[in-house]
Amino acid sequence: MKRPKLRELKEAVTSLLKGPYTHPFPAQPTPLPAWIRGRPTYDPEGCIGCGACAEVCPVRAIEVRDEARDDGTWWRTLVLHFDNCVFCGECMRACTTQQGVALSQDYELSGFDRSTMVETVEKQLVVCELCGGRITARDHLAWIHRRLGPVAAANPTLYLATHDALGLRESAPRDGRPLDRSDIQRVLCPACRRSVTLMDEWGPVL
Ligand code: SF4
Ligand code: SF4
Repeated sequence: MKRPKLRELKEAVTSLLKGPYTHPFPAQPTPLPAWIRGRPTYDPEGCIGCGACAEVCPVRAIEVRDEARDDGTWWRTLVLHFDNCVFCGECMRACTTQQGVALSQDYELSGFDRSTMVETVEKQLVVCELCGGRITARDHLAWIHRRLGPVAAANPTLYLATHDALGLRESAPRDGRPLDRSDIQRVLCPACRRSVTLMDEWGPVL
């Protein structure tokens, strides 16, 4: 019975001299390995608002909110609820630009109010000039335009939306008149683009 007691005494003295074996968290942050997966964060410059990250999130932790503002513009807010996140990294893997969202090393995520546990990014949306439907984020169209290069000139929505973003275009009002050829040169959703193209080829279809 004496020997174990002596061993414990030796361990106690050693611990006293060497200090604790555990990390002093939360007094000091715990050193992390490079591969640790913490809270995902958006980069407003790298994100184009396409919403692909929300599509692939296995736990639906990313919400896509499209809302109109008082000035008539539409905006998309991506809301990442990191209280639901499982840190799988799928959003980062599937990010269209590979620069929009990344898992950080921030692991201290506990809190008392879940409504504050969000990471958000906002992007202005482009709407169809005929039906008013939302097409996608303006930055998304600009990104496609850059990727396509000269081929983007084949799609009026792509180059006109880019001109709009640069303030280079003023769209003429339609005043409720029937569709005509001039409507080809408008920012249109895919359904309206099809209608205008068919009208141009085969006559009125709306
Ligand atoms: S890390 Fe995984 S769970 Fe968390 S937001 Fe991204 S896809 Fe969703
Ligand atoms: S660019 Fe990346 S982070 Fe931004 S919405 Fe698309 S997939 Fe998500």
